[in-house]
Amino acid sequence: MLLEIEDLTLAYGRIEALHSVSLHVDEGEVVALIGANGAGKTTTMRGISGLLPAKTGKIRFNGEDITNVRADLRVVRGICQSPEGRGVFPGMTVLENLDMGAYTRKDRAGIAEDLERVLTLFPRLRERRKQAGGTLSGGEQQMLAVGRALMARPKLLLLDEPSMGLAPMVIRQIFDIITEINQQGTTILLVEQNAQQALSRAHRGYVLETGRIVKEGTGQDLLHDPSVKEAYLGVA
Ligand code: ATP
Repeated sequence: MLLEIEDLTLAYGRIEALHSVSLHVDEGEVVALIGANGAGKTTTMRGISGLLPAKTGKIRFNGEDITNVRADLRVVRGICQSPEGRGVFPGMTVLENLDMGAYTRKDRAGIAEDLERVLTLFPRLRERRKQAGGTLSGGEQQMLAVGRALMARPKLLLLDEPSMGLAPMVIRQIFDIITEINQQGTTILLVEQNAQQALSRAHRGYVLETGRIVKEGTGQDLLHDPSVKEAYLGVA
């Protein structure tokens, strides 16, 4: 197991948003976490990346307890998040944005190699490499956010709503690239409201409802589960 979460409870002040959640991500997997607005998907990601401290429970990464490890040190250990809403630096060029993703690294040759890999994965970013991040389209900004996260050479890539606000064709492209990144060896935990795409690409998935995991299974099992179909796939 690369990531193991046990009975994790997270709160904003006195408001508990995640109640005793347990889940795991094995090396090489794409795991999808699906759920409605406000179910606690982003909160779970914040707990894993260390932006929100655990109230109770444990988080293990690569066999080590990281429950109390600072967010920046979790990046160094190999957990990297591409945040919801993209968070591209608007005044910086595409290349400068990508460079920011490698800020924890010193291996120049490795960084250059990863930059080339990202620009190959996203030819559109290569075309626009000198353009300011803020002038990119929504889909391009999403690509840039994913590319920037890859520049940290993560063992575990956390993707928060990569399809948010994008046109169907762009969503397919983004998911194709996510699949390719996984096939190149990166483990991925994906939070999505687009359950159809996420589950059809994921090895396994979890369904989160009001801060609790209510269902888990393979991507295919969940895609064909009647209650998941009705609640998240718009099929009665
Ligand atoms: P969405 O897709 O809308 O982002 P989500 O599943 O990611 O939904 P979260 O953002 O994790 O949901 O929110 C889970 C719960 O925590 C919600 O009830 C939300 O109102 C609450 N919450 C989120 N952020 C905060 C905050 N900063 N302060 C207080 N409560 C918060």
